[in-house]
Amino acid sequence: MQTRAVNQRVQQFIEICRDHGLKITTQRVAIYEALIQSNQHPTVDMIYRLVKRDFPHISFDTVNRTLTTFADIGVVDVVEGFGGPKRFDPDIENHHHLHCTTCGKIIDFKNDRYTDLEIPASITKMFTVISKRVVLKGHCADCAIEQ
Ligand SMILES: [Zn+2]
Ligand SMILES: [Zn+2]
Repeated sequence: MQTRAVNQRVQQFIEICRDHGLKITTQRVAIYEALIQSNQHPTVDMIYRLVKRDFPHISFDTVNRTLTTFADIGVVDVVEGFGGPKRFDPDIENHHHLHCTTCGKIIDFKNDRYTDLEIPASITKMFTVISKRVVLKGHCADCAIEQ
């Protein structure tokens, strides 16, 4: 990812934290940066390993709590329904996922038709939809070759 894009996202992150009265610490910024740079919907453990390089004394628990706080204020998303450890998504714009059931990779994609998907009245009657995400399960190119 371009440095400029990273800076922009960090700037946006700092603003959202401020809006929620969350103190900006170098550690929190480092955790967020690790998240946007990893580009693979990482688990707490993956972020922990990345951040530990610069903050050798940081604990897994701190990283876990920080990511949960980020999700609470909406600056990151938690990827739902894949079983296993929780995965985090720094892209809070509307997008969709390809999920490789072999290696667990989650690939982002945009599609206006999916985003504009009409919700049937039978659902809107009983449920207020606040976001929509289409998840396509299958095998990524790397895994398809191996089979
Ligand atoms: Zn795969
Ligand atoms: Zn995503």
